[in-house]
Amino acid sequence: MKNIITFAACLFAVSTVCAQTQVIAHRGFHAKQGSANNTLSSLRNAQDLGVFGSECDVNETQDGVLVVIHGPMHGSYNIQHTDFATLRAQALGNGESLPTFEEYLTQAEKNTATKLIIEVKDHDTPEHETRVVKKVLAAVKKHKLQKHVEYIAFRQFVCDRLVELGPKGIKVAYLNGTLSPAYCKGLGYTGIDYHIGVMKNHPNWIKQAHDNGLTVNIWTVNDTENLQWCIDNGADYITTDNPLEANRLLGK
Ligand code: MG
Repeated sequence: MKNIITFAACLFAVSTVCAQTQVIAHRGFHAKQGSANNTLSSLRNAQDLGVFGSECDVNETQDGVLVVIHGPMHGSYNIQHTDFATLRAQALGNGESLPTFEEYLTQAEKNTATKLIIEVKDHDTPEHETRVVKKVLAAVKKHKLQKHVEYIAFRQFVCDRLVELGPKGIKVAYLNGTLSPAYCKGLGYTGIDYHIGVMKNHPNWIKQAHDNGLTVNIWTVNDTENLQWCIDNGADYITTDNPLEANRLLGK
């Protein structure tokens, strides 16, 4: 009897560990003093904090350089319609330079315990988006970071190309909230990454995702009440601008 109880306790412990919600710093841990979102310092801060992941946004400049910035604008310049040199000359809010995706991957290599969550932004045509996806995948491969990154996108076409063109086992989650988890499974995605409002409107989607072997990531959750809601409802990941509060609620 004692052995059975011990075994059950171990099983419970294992399942509790597996179910622990993980934290993804939205655009890096930019809330730390002196940083700004999507900068090399925000990625470094997330690595130093030891969170599961650090999210970033990737756009291509007019002259074909992949850069990490949310967009669509950098100051008065449209990123996708402006050359890299012009964009690079405009300092970010904290004085850092606009980072290239290449520079971001170089920093990601320095501490792979924190995954890089790469959001591939929409571009103007399907052909352009395919080209950007290929470049992103090639850059990650060059840095040997395939096992240390995951991909997200709002555009279904971009997610589909990532699944089609990426390596076996690539992790892709859809952001736009319009597809059921079962449908995403059919498309070959490995997760859903939806706004908290979408998840609250579809209370069965966390279970449906898990039943289909998909991960559940919820964005962008910053206040204590909603962070706790994600944890209580079994989200695998929370994407947050407030990783310190998420860690506190998780007892980290
Ligand atoms: Mg993003």
